[in-house]
Amino acid sequence: MKVDYDVVVIGCGAAGMSSALYLKRAGISCCLLEKEVPGGQMIKTNIIENYPGVSSISGSDLAMNMFKQVTDLEVPYRYGSVIEIKCEEKVKVVKTETGEIICRGIVIATGRSPKKLGLPLEEKLVGHGLSYCATCDGPLYKEKDVVVVGGGNSALEEAIYLSTLARKVTIVHRRNELRAESNLVEKAKKIPNISFSLQKEVKELLEEDGTLSGVLLKQGNEEEKLPCDGLFLFIGQVPNSEAFTSLGILDEQGYIEVDQNGKTKVAGIYAAGDILKKEVYQIATAVGEGATAAIGLIKELEQNN
Ligand code: NAP
Repeated sequence: MKVDYDVVVIGCGAAGMSSALYLKRAGISCCLLEKEVPGGQMIKTNIIENYPGVSSISGSDLAMNMFKQVTDLEVPYRYGSVIEIKCEEKVKVVKTETGEIICRGIVIATGRSPKKLGLPLEEKLVGHGLSYCATCDGPLYKEKDVVVVGGGNSALEEAIYLSTLARKVTIVHRRNELRAESNLVEKAKKIPNISFSLQKEVKELLEEDGTLSGVLLKQGNEEEKLPCDGLFLFIGQVPNSEAFTSLGILDEQGYIEVDQNGKTKVAGIYAAGDILKKEVYQIATAVGEGATAAIGLIKELEQNN
């Protein structure tokens, strides 16, 4: 059967673009398939200061540099959301809402999406005071009061960024200890318009005329209202893997398990980046995993030629 590309790379974040770069440079025809804009988590990150070789760069600039590198190599960028992958005798069929792509190998690099609190009004208030992206929505809260929920690296990094715009930033975290790296915690503690509200959970989202007006916090039996103009949730991520359920490659949390070559238990299907079951979620690791998956897949395709 005629294939459209040797390889379809699903996901155009750091891992996917790294895979595409290695594949194309090895003479493998491939496309990048993405359901949103290119860049993945990078474009939702204000400043990146831990990517080797670049002391400080905005997330969108790093993403666009990577994207330019792959598009300069003439890797086609295709827009589409994967519904399912079917493995036939010699080919794989990537089914999207806009059609099918036939290929010999696949790299899954679909990353993760923000975890939700799961509270009533949460969906309704997105874009009306509630956000999961400080880089995207922070400028709407100039000189306003915002609440950041979470105690990890994302919460602290984004709170630091928001402190340059907002009048007041309150970090609400459910425990007394913050999960974020100590340098970020120390940096945030020194910023005068950042304060911490620890050992508190968000019990309710408060609304006035269809817009978020604050949060109801709970600590033991005590409750307090914290009025705010904006609420930014950084409480972790969930893998974007629903479309791959039928392949039988997901663990119970929906992450993909791979071997040291980035290969899943299905021949010709590799995975890289934040979709992997792993310990470290960094741009630097995603790039490495993207390269590993591409090199592994190149070898497998050569062996099957
Ligand atoms: P994370 O490290 O998993 O932190 C999530 C935070 O949200 C935790 O503090 C957690 O509390 C809290 N949380 C989870 N569920 C909650 C709930 N239902 N209600 C209230 N709070 C809740 O997630 P992340 O900050 O998005 O980071 C994800 C990964 O990317 C991490 O591996 C991180 O190191 C990496 N990352 C790295 C950088 C960097 O290197 N500069 C930047 C951003 C992200 P507990 O602590 O109590 O569990």
